[in-house]
Amino acid sequence: MTTQIEDLIARQLQERKERLEGAVSKSNRPDEIGRLIRDIDRALDKISNGGYGLCETCHDSIETETLAADPLARYCIEHLSAAERHALERDLSLARQIQTGLLPRKNIPLPGWLSAYHYEPYGEVSGDYLDIIFPDNDLESFLFVIGDVSGKGIAASMLMSQLHATFRTLAGIGLSIDLLTERANRIFCGASLSTHFATLVSGIAHRDGEVRVVNAGHCPPIVLRSTGTEVIASSGLPLGITCDGIYKTESFRLEKGESLILYTDGLSEATGISGGMYGEDRLRKVLSGHAGDPPDALTFACLKDLDLFAGSGRRADDLTLLALRRG
Ligand SMILES: [Zn+2]
Repeated sequence: MTTQIEDLIARQLQERKERLEGAVSKSNRPDEIGRLIRDIDRALDKISNGGYGLCETCHDSIETETLAADPLARYCIEHLSAAERHALERDLSLARQIQTGLLPRKNIPLPGWLSAYHYEPYGEVSGDYLDIIFPDNDLESFLFVIGDVSGKGIAASMLMSQLHATFRTLAGIGLSIDLLTERANRIFCGASLSTHFATLVSGIAHRDGEVRVVNAGHCPPIVLRSTGTEVIASSGLPLGITCDGIYKTESFRLEKGESLILYTDGLSEATGISGGMYGEDRLRKVLSGHAGDPPDALTFACLKDLDLFAGSGRRADDLTLLALRRG
């Protein structure tokens, strides 16, 4: 029995095969096209009869990233030829450069606010999404979005860039943040695999300190005041779960010196050297000790404490952290 993803891949391969068959008579390289068609037939045969996604040398599963980059892949990374491995590494490095180019500029000037962020992919590319957007003709406010696409690697990073384009486009049409998120969810539902979803926090911050936030199934952002911390609980499903998702806006005001901290579960769910999960409570405690600090000091304090807890070695997930402080 084939899985839903295999069905989708089979359909895509079938379409690719039909296009190639249509092109074979007009091509001056019919042998090359014939070989591509045979590769597709081999993959389609494996999807129907079992064995698709397994390395032909070691019979282990081929990495999801490799299959996402090339659905016809026949070998796991370990058993690729040196040339194939080199080509894959080059593609990944290019994907990383493209993704880094989508991030907001560091220390970007914001109306009435200061910002700092840390964006750390687990592998070459990340499924975390972070953006700061300035709606057209509005010098008094800005949009901020942080999200986490399920899974890791290339497939997640492609969906991350899709979210990036969606929010950038929708931000220009003057919708409220809940309607904007509803619209983005509908687009994401229509374009992503049914196995993928994205938790996300979207918000609009105004120069006067007014903030409106939607939390779609994401880790609760923390409001840091001199009097303590508050969290913004999730009030809707992650994007990509159901096309008619409805989202609720939370509104509040930050005074000068107060901050809003947003993060992905690469921070809150990091595993400690001696076991256990980092957790929201520990994060709130660290932040409480730094109320009023500039945003780069807040992100630095969080990362330093995470290193203490989890060790400074390789993390197990993409990690993103954004601090916004009313100036
Ligand atoms: Zn192998």
